[in-house]
Amino acid sequence: MITITPLRVGTIYCDKGKTLTQGVDNGKMMYIPSVSWLIKTPTEKILVDTGMPDTETSHSKHYPGSYQLPGERIEQVLKIQGVLPEEITKVIFTHLHWDHCQNGLLLPKAKFYVQKKELDFARNPAGTYFRSYDHPSIGLTPEFETYPLEVVDGDWEVLPGITAMLTPGHSPGHQIVVVETAPGTKYVIAGDAVLCYDNLLPSTQQDYVLPGRHKDSAETQQVIEKIITIAGATHRILPGHDERVFRKKEYS
Ligand SMILES: [Zn+2]
Repeated sequence: MITITPLRVGTIYCDKGKTLTQGVDNGKMMYIPSVSWLIKTPTEKILVDTGMPDTETSHSKHYPGSYQLPGERIEQVLKIQGVLPEEITKVIFTHLHWDHCQNGLLLPKAKFYVQKKELDFARNPAGTYFRSYDHPSIGLTPEFETYPLEVVDGDWEVLPGITAMLTPGHSPGHQIVVVETAPGTKYVIAGDAVLCYDNLLPSTQQDYVLPGRHKDSAETQQVIEKIITIAGATHRILPGHDERVFRKKEYS
């Protein structure tokens, strides 16, 4: 059996309409979690994303009012789960936005998997998208450049029962992770392809209330449909920034 545990690695303060739900609740400020996912298989312990940086960097360089409490850094939350940082063999980055890929060097035995399109774009973001990454133009050195990166291109099998799929839209090289926790039961760790459960609701503009931040709206919509089809039920979709994912300590 395979299990999935959501780990809270910080809190982001943001405008709901601008960030989470395009055209809905503009100007409504709210706190949302930064989440890392621990996948335990019979042979390996894997993470999907490592979360946001410390309070000072998050607040001053990204979203003012965001914070990481003492004890919320990735290796600290792992220890609370009874997992040593050196037990993590693989880290899969859904994408390289600032709040998904920090503190990887605290996981000394891990290899870090990123899509080629995402790495290319993070190094040279078009338009104003540099704000979403640790880009030198906002005075930041991307920490992911120091990780032992494994660059993948397209869908790939992580381990039997765990597949990562290229799902561009929110960002150019975004990937989701599909986990078959038991035969016939598939969970989708959606990253920011689904930021919150509200993105699965019908919209007057499109089929769904799209995430507020995305690179390509047509692709974003197609990916939401794909995720719903794979999961088969919305409760097996695990969004990137929804408090409700913590309703369960473990998914299996
Ligand atoms: Zn993102």
